Amino acid sequence: MPTRRPCRAPATRRERFAVLDPATGDAFDEAPGQRPEELDAVVGRAHEAWLGWRTDSHARSEALLAAADAVEAAGAGLAPLLTREQGKPLAESYAEVARTAARLRYFAALDPGIQQIRDGRPVRGEIRWRPLGPVAAIVPWNFPLQLASAKFAPALAAGNTVVLKPSPFTPLATRLLGSVISAALPEDVLTIVTGHEPLGARLVSHPGIRHVTFTGSIPTGRAVAQGAAASLARVTLELGGNDAAVLLDDVDVERIADRLFWAAFRNCGQVCMAVKRVYAPARLYTRVVEALAHRARTVVVGAGLDPDSRLGPVNNASQLARVERHTARALADGARAAAGGHRLDRPGYFFAPTVLADVPPASSVVTDEQFGPVLPVLPYRSLDEAVEAANGTGFGLGGSVWGTDLDRAEEVADRLECGTAWINHHAELSLAQPFAGIKESGVGVAGGPWGLYGNLRPFVVHRPEET
Ligand code: NAD
Repeated sequence: MPTRRPCRAPATRRERFAVLDPATGDAFDEAPGQRPEELDAVVGRAHEAWLGWRTDSHARSEALLAAADAVEAAGAGLAPLLTREQGKPLAESYAEVARTAARLRYFAALDPGIQQIRDGRPVRGEIRWRPLGPVAAIVPWNFPLQLASAKFAPALAAGNTVVLKPSPFTPLATRLLGSVISAALPEDVLTIVTGHEPLGARLVSHPGIRHVTFTGSIPTGRAVAQGAAASLARVTLELGGNDAAVLLDDVDVERIADRLFWAAFRNCGQVCMAVKRVYAPARLYTRVVEALAHRARTVVVGAGLDPDSRLGPVNNASQLARVERHTARALADGARAAAGGHRLDRPGYFFAPTVLADVPPASSVVTDEQFGPVLPVLPYRSLDEAVEAANGTGFGLGGSVWGTDLDRAEEVADRLECGTAWINHHAELSLAQPFAGIKESGVGVAGGPWGLYGNLRPFVVHRPEET
């Protein structure tokens, strides 16, 4: 398929905004700050492109496979740029690039098929799946490429076109990704727009958009749903989490400690599905706190481009302030910092990996989403009490149970009110699984074939059987 124009909408030299390196706090580059008024033209072109893109599923698959190859080939450019603006260790940025390519391949191979309806009537009913039109995709700054691909790969595979807006904290790697992919797609099939609000608000409420797919915080998710209501576009929301890890009394603390630590601290805790609260049996409490605190005290923290770093900085100043606020409140509420508890005395947005013990259950670091390198550990006396506490928030993204008797652990996991539960793991997702938070953690289903159908509408044809 031909390519004639880069996927990025144009912007004048004047309208640019600074992008900061969270490891230093200094600006290192700029991105175009597009004006909301430009969206009429962008969405209009996405609609025009859709008329061709929706017609040929075989050509779409081929184009998405070529795009996956191109993303992989561009890894040496994408990964360092991602680390520079996001902060994560370079190896994790490479993993994110690999996951982006894998997701394109996964959805390129999916076919919604045609389903027959058989209900005993002399009528042949057939469900054929049709794309929706231009899709607005909005993503946060914690996994800019991976989350962007979670939006555009199923949407494009389904035959829609996509206008994607990354977070203004991390626009650069996404713009580069867009350029790389656009070389394999017809023009205007994927457009990246960058800028500060109200760009996102105007995009999700644009009358030319037929599906709004959003990943981010719960308050913004509410605003997005309200915005999309203007044109009654379909809405998929993947929102915040406050996942609990429940440790059972037969857990082998030393055996699971590394995995549990990284389930909480990977990407500096800035993972929707990170372990954000640990419930440990009172008998094992001190050992659990110490095993986690030891790892928090000894993990190497530094700039993501430094090959020795295992944990980078928090992504931005307001997120750092949020982490500081939750931690200070917990300490004021009577918690004890078994490790960390403070900012690091160096440039950039570094916070010492923190394990909090003796945290009152009503403290905000337990009830709210900290989204940073701070982990509260709470003791429990009865398992019912632990399950009730794990389920006792408005969140419902994921959860995990850790123990030696896997059958018992699975019974407890079955009681967790969330979209995905793990045993002796956390946050390991398959591309083939449905991804759906419950309660305030999400609306709709992404991932796997469900993610493809989430970007399609059923078109049903009834015809009489031949007589
Ligand atoms: P955020 O809600 O502040 O921003 C997300 C995106 O929305 C950004 O691109 C932002 O620019 C844009 N935005 C802001 N206001 C908008 C508006 N009125 N209309 C449209 N778009 C708007 O979230 P964040 O701080 O960037 O990310 C952290 C949050 O994302 C956490 O709550 C985390 O749990 C959540 N998250 C969820 C998932 C998931 O899959 N469930 C994955 C990653 C992150």
